[in-house]
Amino acid sequence: MTHPTYDTSAPVLVTGATGYVAGWLVKRLLEEGFTVHAAVRDPGNTSKLKALNHLAEEVPGQIKYFPSDLLQAGSYADAMQGCAVVFHTASPFIMSVEDPQKDLIEPAQLGTRNVLEQANHTESVQRVVVTSSCAAIYGDNADLEQTKGDMFTEEDWNTSSSLRHQPYSYSKTVAEQEAWKIAKAQDRWDLVTINPSLVLGPGTNPMATSASFSLIKQMGDGTMKSGVPNFGVGVVDVRDVAQAHMAAGFMFTAEGRYITSGYNTNFPELAEILQYQFEDAYPIPKSTLPKPLVWLMGPLLDRSISRKMIARNVDVPLLVDNSKGIRELGLTYRPLATSLTEMFQQMIDNNIITAA
Ligand code: NAP
Repeated sequence: MTHPTYDTSAPVLVTGATGYVAGWLVKRLLEEGFTVHAAVRDPGNTSKLKALNHLAEEVPGQIKYFPSDLLQAGSYADAMQGCAVVFHTASPFIMSVEDPQKDLIEPAQLGTRNVLEQANHTESVQRVVVTSSCAAIYGDNADLEQTKGDMFTEEDWNTSSSLRHQPYSYSKTVAEQEAWKIAKAQDRWDLVTINPSLVLGPGTNPMATSASFSLIKQMGDGTMKSGVPNFGVGVVDVRDVAQAHMAAGFMFTAEGRYITSGYNTNFPELAEILQYQFEDAYPIPKSTLPKPLVWLMGPLLDRSISRKMIARNVDVPLLVDNSKGIRELGLTYRPLATSLTEMFQQMIDNNIITAA
């Protein structure tokens, strides 16, 4: 890989380095020889840093930890010192929260403000890559009816989510909007956003807490054994997301937002892939639940699922257009079955999913 504009001797900052998505990015950066400034909430928590320390073994790069919290202004100053490229991945990815404002919106939006305002105060920074989400492109699959084309593209913004409806998606939308506002008010560094769909694939830390893991766990632990709703989702492999961040960070020509999504699929299709390899030993869902049943029972079984969400997403196909990233960043995508089966196998190997 060549780095036409950036000096590999300059360190790079990764916020949220302990996270699922950040793990593969840190690995790639270390393999390329970078000094990675890993911003983490608690550098004293050695068990949480075990996986990251492991990544730093026998690679040309090195890792340095900095204590940082999204909610504390100025908290990223030391971590950003001397960095040319900043990867801002930190943001809670949790579906079920007590207080959406406090648990999701504040860390996402204020955290983005803190990190990007720090970039304004750090002369060395030339590029900031924010890990946004397809959730900032659209809120519900039914939003497609309001768009100009027949697929969601980087031109689209989520206008349907709110504090009460799809609050995680709302948090990603206001955070990315905050990022563009700050970026456009200055001209020393430029902003590129990576907008992944649902990220799957094995983690560098198998014990990661990302909601990606809880969803796949439910497909193998019997929670969904009576069936899955026909919920359309985009899916991308975590290693391909890392590649997208590398391209966004180091390609001089990278510009704007990049939808990073390998496949337009749905839960029944994901279940079918898992059945092929795992159905003998694990209670993988075998049927598709009728929408009226999901509408009736969904909110009773999981309070993060609302009837409005079911009405606007179940049996509504999802189509996102990934062509900009393929064309401009040279992105390629692993087969969906590879991501899913390798992730499921990793969860079995680590006793996160146990045989029925
Ligand atoms: P994750 O494993 O839960 O990682 C979240 C990271 O954010 C963790 O490192 C966490 O630190 C950090 N964080 C949370 N609150 C923080 C705070 N107050 N101060 C400092 N750090 C804080 O989730 P993930 O799936 O990797 O998500 C990473 C990013 O990718 C997020 O921006 C998410 O929105 C985005 N994304 C994820 C997906 C997906 O399907 N996974 C899809 C699209 C976009 P701790 O370890 O200390 O908790």
